[in-house]
Amino acid sequence: MTSQSIREDRDDSYVIIGDGVAGSSAADVLAEQTDDASITVLTAESEPLYNRILIKEYAKGTVPEETVQIHDQAWYDERDIDLELDTRVSTIETDDNAVVTAAGERYHYDKLLVATGGTPRSLPVPNADAEGVTSFWTIEDARRIREKAAAAETGTIVGGGLLGIDYAAIAAAQDVDASYLIREDRWFSRAMSETGAAIVHDALDERGVTPVLETTVDHFETDDDGHVVATVDSEGDVYDSDCVGVAIGTESNTAFLEGTPIPVDDGVLVDGRLQTDDPDVYAAGDVAQYHDRRLGRPVKNGSWGSAAAQGEHAAENMLAPAGAGEHFEFVPSYTVTHFSFPMASFGHPGLGETYRERTYGETEWRRLAFRDGMLVGGVLIGDLSVLQPLKELTASGRRVQGRAGELLAPTFDGLADVTAASPIASD
Ligand SMILES: Cc1cc2nc3c(=O)[nH]c(=O)nc-3n(C[C@H](O)[C@H](O)[C@H](O)COP(=O)(O)OP(=O)(O)OC[C@H]3O[C@@H](n4cnc5c(N)ncnc54)[C@H](O)[C@@H]3O)c2cc1C
Repeated sequence: MTSQSIREDRDDSYVIIGDGVAGSSAADVLAEQTDDASITVLTAESEPLYNRILIKEYAKGTVPEETVQIHDQAWYDERDIDLELDTRVSTIETDDNAVVTAAGERYHYDKLLVATGGTPRSLPVPNADAEGVTSFWTIEDARRIREKAAAAETGTIVGGGLLGIDYAAIAAAQDVDASYLIREDRWFSRAMSETGAAIVHDALDERGVTPVLETTVDHFETDDDGHVVATVDSEGDVYDSDCVGVAIGTESNTAFLEGTPIPVDDGVLVDGRLQTDDPDVYAAGDVAQYHDRRLGRPVKNGSWGSAAAQGEHAAENMLAPAGAGEHFEFVPSYTVTHFSFPMASFGHPGLGETYRERTYGETEWRRLAFRDGMLVGGVLIGDLSVLQPLKELTASGRRVQGRAGELLAPTFDGLADVTAASPIASD
């Protein structure tokens, strides 16, 4: 085992696992706010930070690959950040403040940030690993999907969530005649009612993607070369499939923390300051399951904007004196622009105890989720001008019982008169 990279002449050493937007944003803040610290970013990927949001546009064939890149090696060099590509972390040793890689290298840290994101779940069915069956998270995946979709006439998409809709848009853009298999009775069922989902189903149909509801994949059929040719669902129906996109959710990349004292649930469990039980170890981005003070429970955000903000926030807290870090407060949002109408999900649209919705037109609709009298999230179709005031109201944690009608007014731009003595519960 070799010992790596700790420059003895440096003050503090910061190690970040993951060069997604969370890890990279953290490195940027650390570089900006320290004079002589050692900052190391370890990533399993082969290229520096790129725009994960844009890889769907690349896979559609609408933008060239260069537009996806965000940082090049020079960006890290200019900030004196040591970027280690193709470096997978296999464990951490918290007693020794050391990160150990799969190649057996050790990196000492004074403070460590875990920003390892997630990995798509695979389907536990026969031939799920056949050639032509893809999942979608990295630029490598996008290259494969673009190539497969361009050559395909027929395809199947599996999984009724936000990544599934990206696959559907890619199929439509690449003229693939696709069936979209959804286990539930509607797309994005944890956040949408039948009325809202029907708008999306119609838009998919118009683009040659047929939603098939309440069904699951039984197995895939392959040709003699092991390439997928068909998807067979739980009803025994057969869908010709020159290509298949599987988007049935992600699992947090926490396997390397097994056997360590760092607590893991659905992600790395951190407090409101993004700090684990170990005061030297923080987590940020999709992998972080942080204590949300408004909701009074641990949540994961799963969006680009939130991951960037968490990376910056964690870095600020890593630099702060012990116990002095700020709480992370953020209302994430996720915009879908594949159709003739825009769509946005914000906050935690599936965490409501009660829901109220309103239809304004053929492709204009709004649904809001309430919990403990607070607005906690929602989904908007058509008019996104209300997104910002609704996010602000969500962030405020203010009680809005009996005010849903006003929040659903077509021109809502805030509730100036709403006050609450204690909008955010203290932890
Ligand atoms: C196709 C697609 C479209 C999306 N569209 C949107 C959108 O429209 N809007 C939106 O808000 N969000 C979108 N997202 C989600 C958004 O991209 C993520 O929320 C965000 O990228 C998470 O950033 P992160 O830094 O937390 O994790 P990631 O970007 O997943 O980065 C984690 C990094 O850690 C590395 N890593 C993992 N394990 C290890 C290990 N053991 N050792 C070393 N390195 C490791 C990984 O290789 C990866 O590079 C989309 C995601 C995808 C895949």
